[in-house]
Amino acid sequence: MFFHRKEPMIPIEVRKPNPVFAQFLLQQFGGATGELTAALQYWVQAFHCPKPGIRELLQDVALEEFGHLEMVGKLIEEHTREQKEVVSDLEMAPIFAIRGRGPHLVDEGGVAWTAAYINEGGDVVRDLRADIAAEAGARETYEILLDRAPDAGTKKVLHYLLTREIAHTNMFMRALESLGKLTEPVFGNVKPDESVNIYYHLSANGAPKRGPWNQEPEFKYVADPVKLLESHELVGASGKVA
Ligand code: MN
Ligand code: MN
Repeated sequence: MFFHRKEPMIPIEVRKPNPVFAQFLLQQFGGATGELTAALQYWVQAFHCPKPGIRELLQDVALEEFGHLEMVGKLIEEHTREQKEVVSDLEMAPIFAIRGRGPHLVDEGGVAWTAAYINEGGDVVRDLRADIAAEAGARETYEILLDRAPDAGTKKVLHYLLTREIAHTNMFMRALESLGKLTEPVFGNVKPDESVNIYYHLSANGAPKRGPWNQEPEFKYVADPVKLLESHELVGASGKVA
């Protein structure tokens, strides 16, 4: 069950409305990286999470994201409130001129929110990785918004929201770690085959670039994969890589 407390998580104060900035803010209301996406993603994931502790984490963070949705909505409401002294103040923000003031479930380009933004499946490891990616998207958008925010009050709220996404990232990373999956790519019941450690160098020109992502002993670097692939001996009877 849900209760609604009629105050935002932190106070929201916008002295001078800026409808153009409000249109940017729509990304975090009805956009792919927005709060509705995060809230519903974690909420639905919680239903199929078998670990009670991680289930509660997903529910708690989902509820917090609904709180963020409320804050972004309030910011949009404030930035689109009527300005008596300004004639046709929505002229430069067509979404609000057409649909009305306040938040709508569209992004800054007017594209309707869709459940296709949500990344969730039946496995807690897959879900937590998707959540870390979702938080990264939200954090990036907040940085872009912070850079363009027209007033100190708005900046304060956006800085808080950006910070909370970092906090959530850390929580999801610790949850993955508790499952032994923060630095372990393999999960599920199917054992990978012998190709699991192969790095195919498929860039045809320029000097090969080497790094921890393709170095021995963890990876076998195949500098010329054409021969290997043509020989069909990638996974031989011996199980040895050609
Ligand atoms: Mn959030
Ligand atoms: Mn978050």
